[in-house]
Amino acid sequence: MATRVTLIPGDGIGPEVTRAARLVAEATGVSIDWEVVDAGEAAIKATGTPLPPAVLDSVRKNRLALKGPITTPIGGGFRSVNVALRQELDLYASVRPARSIAGEGTRFPETDLIVVREATEGLYSGVEHWVDREHSAAETVNVITRKACDRICKFGFEMARREHRRHVTGVHKANIMKTTGALFQTAFREMAAKYPDITADERLIDNMCMQLVKKPEEYDVIITTNLMGDILSDLCAGLAGGLGVAPGALYGDTLAVFEPVHGSAPKYAGQDKADPVAEILCLELLLRHIGQREAADRVFRAVWETVAEKKVVTYDLALPGYTAHPVPASSCSAMAKEIARKVPLVDLSKPLPRPVAPSAAPIDAALIT
Ligand code: NAD
Repeated sequence: MATRVTLIPGDGIGPEVTRAARLVAEATGVSIDWEVVDAGEAAIKATGTPLPPAVLDSVRKNRLALKGPITTPIGGGFRSVNVALRQELDLYASVRPARSIAGEGTRFPETDLIVVREATEGLYSGVEHWVDREHSAAETVNVITRKACDRICKFGFEMARREHRRHVTGVHKANIMKTTGALFQTAFREMAAKYPDITADERLIDNMCMQLVKKPEEYDVIITTNLMGDILSDLCAGLAGGLGVAPGALYGDTLAVFEPVHGSAPKYAGQDKADPVAEILCLELLLRHIGQREAADRVFRAVWETVAEKKVVTYDLALPGYTAHPVPASSCSAMAKEIARKVPLVDLSKPLPRPVAPSAAPIDAALIT
C-alpha cells in the first residue's frame, strides 16, 4: 500500500527542489502517494491566504509532509507561514543534522552534529508590538514555558540515546536572561540527570558559536530554544558544507514535516540552479521515519557518491573552495537525475561512508511499515 505524504512545494526554489526529491523518491521504488497542497505565494494567489486550512488538514490527515521553503516578508507583511505551521500543528522539535558529505566542501570534513531546537515558542511566539505611534521603540516577548522546555529536552535526550550519540549540550543565555534562560537551564539540568548514560554539559550561546567554529568535533547533540537553534543550525550547516546540503525535520507527538534548513533563495528561483541535496536528504529522513531504511541508505549513498564524484553537481558544490578541482556547474534537475540514476545501483554492502541520519521516529509507531 502506498504511503500518503503531503507535499508543500513552497516558494522560490521550493518547486524545483521538491520536484528533484520526488524524482529520487520514485527511484527508490517506495510507493508514495503525494498529496500536493500550496502554501505561501501560490496559496495567496489562489485563496488570498498564505496558509489555507486545507494545508493544515492535509498534514493532520497524512501525518507526514515533505515541504519546500516558504518566503516570509522581511520587516513587515504577513506572519511567517513556517512559524505558523509549526505552532498550528504543534511541531515542537526541529531536528537539523549537520553531516559533512564527501568532506571537501568544508574545513571540517568530520562534522557530524545534530541541532535539536524548540520550534513553537521563544522569540518566535509572535507576541510583539510597537511601543509608540512613531515606531521608535518596539518589544518582542520571549515566551518560554516549562512544559515546552521539558518536552524539547526529553525529545533531545531520547533521540541521543536511540541514535547512540555520545554527548548532549544545552545552549542558553541564562547569565543575562535570568527568567527565560534560567527556565530552560533548569529543565535541561533536570532532564540530563535522568539520562546518566549520556554525558551532558551547557554552553552560553555566544561561547557556543565560537566553540563550534573552532572545534566542532567536541560537540554532538545540541538542544536549545527557538531563535538560538535557528541561528546555530545555519552555523552548523555552514560547517558541514553549506545550506545547499542541510536537511531538517519537524516532529510533533503524531506528525512529522521534513523541510530543508535553507530558505526560498529568491535570486535563484526558476533558474534550475539551486542545489537539490538538502531537499533530497529531507526525503532520506522521511524514508527513515517510515521505516524504509534500505531506501534511505540508498538515497544517502547516491547523494554521497554524486557529490564525491563531482561530475554532476550544482554551482555551490562546483565552486573553488568547495572542491579542490573546480568543475563546470550542472543544473538542479541534472543533479537530481544523476542521484536518482544511482539510487538502484549503489552498493549497500560497503559500509556507509558517514553515520546515517537520526531516524527520529519517537512516537509514531503506526507509521512504521
Ligand atoms: P536562504 O536560505 O534562502 O538563502 C541564503 C543563501 O544560501 C543565499 O545566498 C541562497 O542563494 C543560498 N542558498 C539557499 N539554498 C540554496 C540551495 N538549495 N542551493 C544553493 N544555494 C542556496 O535564506 P534567506 O535569503 O535569508 O531567505 C530567503 C527567504 O526564505 C526569506 O523569505 C526567508 O524568510 C525564507 N526562509 C524560509 C525558510 C523555511 O521555509 N523553512 C527557512 C529560511 C528562510
